[in-house]
Amino acid sequence: MKSVAIIGAGITGLTAAFYLKRKGIPVTVYEAGGHVGGVIQSIRRDGFLAECGPNTLLETSPKIAQLVRDAGLASRRLDSDPKAEARYVVRYRRPIAMPSSQLGIFTSELLSAKAKLALLREPFVPRRRDGREESIAEFVVRRLNREFLDQMIDALVAGIYAGDPHQLSVQQAFPRLAELEARHGSLIKGQIFGARERKRRGEIAKDRAPKFSFDEGLQVLPDTLAAQLGDAVKLNTPVTKLTQMEGGWRVSTATGEAEHGAVIYCGTAYKLAELQIERSAGLRPGESRIPNRAGSETGVPLYPTLDLGAFSEIRYPPVASVVLGFRREDVAHPCQGYGMLIPKVEGFRILGTIFSSSLFPNRAPAGHVTLTSYVGGARQPDLASRSADELVALACEDLRVLLGVKGRPVFEHTMLYPKAIPQYNLGYGRYRELISTVENRAAGLFLAGHYREGVSLGDSIVSGCNVVERVEKFLMTK
Ligand SMILES: Cc1cc2nc3c(=O)[nH]c(=O)nc-3n(C[C@H](O)[C@H](O)[C@H](O)COP(=O)(O)OP(=O)(O)OC[C@H]3O[C@@H](n4cnc5c(N)ncnc54)[C@H](O)[C@@H]3O)c2cc1C
Repeated sequence: MKSVAIIGAGITGLTAAFYLKRKGIPVTVYEAGGHVGGVIQSIRRDGFLAECGPNTLLETSPKIAQLVRDAGLASRRLDSDPKAEARYVVRYRRPIAMPSSQLGIFTSELLSAKAKLALLREPFVPRRRDGREESIAEFVVRRLNREFLDQMIDALVAGIYAGDPHQLSVQQAFPRLAELEARHGSLIKGQIFGARERKRRGEIAKDRAPKFSFDEGLQVLPDTLAAQLGDAVKLNTPVTKLTQMEGGWRVSTATGEAEHGAVIYCGTAYKLAELQIERSAGLRPGESRIPNRAGSETGVPLYPTLDLGAFSEIRYPPVASVVLGFRREDVAHPCQGYGMLIPKVEGFRILGTIFSSSLFPNRAPAGHVTLTSYVGGARQPDLASRSADELVALACEDLRVLLGVKGRPVFEHTMLYPKAIPQYNLGYGRYRELISTVENRAAGLFLAGHYREGVSLGDSIVSGCNVVERVEKFLMTK
C-alpha cells in the first residue's frame, strides 16, 4: 500500500499519523520546524514548568481520552485539581470569582442589576430569522446587553481566541451559541434543553469538560506520538510543492521528492496559502491546475475564482506568553483556581492569567507559584512583540495591581507566537467552503487542523481523528 504524507507535526498531524500507522497504513510526517508539537512547548527549568503555548486540554470529546489511552499515557495524565475550578473575571480592577452555579450570577457583583434583568428577559427576546451572519458582539448586545459584552464576553473571547468580539462571527467561532438560539429561541432555554442533546452526541460542554495535562506538561503527548512514529517523522523538512500524479501525489521538499498515495495538510492556513499545487500532466507553464474528481482527465483550472492564496487572508494575531514564578509570600492573592480573564474596558495590558501551579502539581517548586499571562492578540497586537524584559515588566505591573504581586519574579520565560490563533471572523465560512472545494477537486488531498474544525487542542485532536476516517475511505475506493 502506498504511504500517506502528513504535512505538519503539530497535534493534528501527529494524531492523524498515529492512527493511520495503527491501521497498518504507512506514513511520512513532514515538519518544517525543528521540534514536534507545533505551538505546544513545555519547558522545564529551575524546578518550574513553563507552558508557552496551550496550558490545558479540555476533554470535550471521547476521542481525546481515547488518544491518551491509545498512546499509553493514561498513567501520565494529570487532571486539574478539583479545588482549582474557580475562574475569575476582572471588574472594578480586581478579580471577582465567577459564580459556580447558573443561579449564582444573580447574587454576584460581576454584573449590575440592569445586566441581571437582561438575563431574565433573554428567553423572551425573539430569535433572529433573517439568517444574516452576526459578530459575537452584535449577538450578545441583541440578546442580552452591552454590559454583558464588555464585562463577560470580551474577556471570554480574549481567553479563547485572543480575538475581537466585533470581528469574530458567532456562527463560525461560537456555532453552539448560534445553534442554541436557532433551535431553542434562547440561550438560557437552550442551556437547559441542550444538555440532553449533548449527552446523546457524547459531547461535553466546554465549561464542564475535564481539564488535563501530563506530568511533564502537554509536550508529553506530541513527544510520545512522535516516538511511536519513529523515523517516519522528518523534522526541518518544509513541504514546498504538491504535484498530483497518476495514482497519487509527489511531495517536494528542499531536500528531495517522494511519492505518496494521499496527502493530509495539517499546517497553518497562512502556510497553506504558500503551498504550490500542480497537476503533472497537461499543465501549461505558470498555470496551476487541479483535476475535477468526477471530471475529465484534462482537468479544470485551479479555482477559476478562488485560489489557495485566499488562505493568507485569515488573521492570526500575535500573542506572547509570559510565564513568571514568584515566591508564595510575594503574591497576596491565593491564586486558587483556573485563572482570571480580563475585559478590555478594565484597561490592563495582559489579556488574562492562568494560575498554572494551582491547576497542576509540579509546575513550581515548593513555596512558589507559577502564573502564565498572555499579551497582544487582536486587542493590542503591537504589545506582543515587545522585548522579553518589557513583557515581564508590563506583566508584573498588571499582576501587582490585580493579584498583589511584589518583588521580582524568581523565574521568567517569554515566548512570542507571531501568528498564534486563527480568527474565525465574519466571512470565515468562505474559507471553510474553499477547504471543501479543494478536497472535492483534488482527489487524495485532505485538509485538517485548527483552521478548520475549531481552534482548541481538543478540536485539533478530533480533526486529526476525523481526517483518518476520510483518508481510509479514500484509500479503500482507489
Ligand atoms: C499561545 C497559545 C495558547 C493556547 N492555549 C490553548 C489552551 O490552553 N487550550 C487549548 O485547547 N488550546 C490552546 N491553544 C490552541 C491550540 O494549541 C492549537 O489550536 C493546536 O495546538 C493546533 O494544532 P495544529 O496541529 O492544528 O497546528 P500547529 O500546532 O500550528 O502545527 C502545525 C505544524 O505544521 C507545520 N507546517 C506548516 N506548514 C508546513 C509545511 N509546508 N511543511 C511542513 N510543515 C509545515 C508547522 O511548522 C507546525 O509545526 C493555544 C494556542 C496558542 C498559540
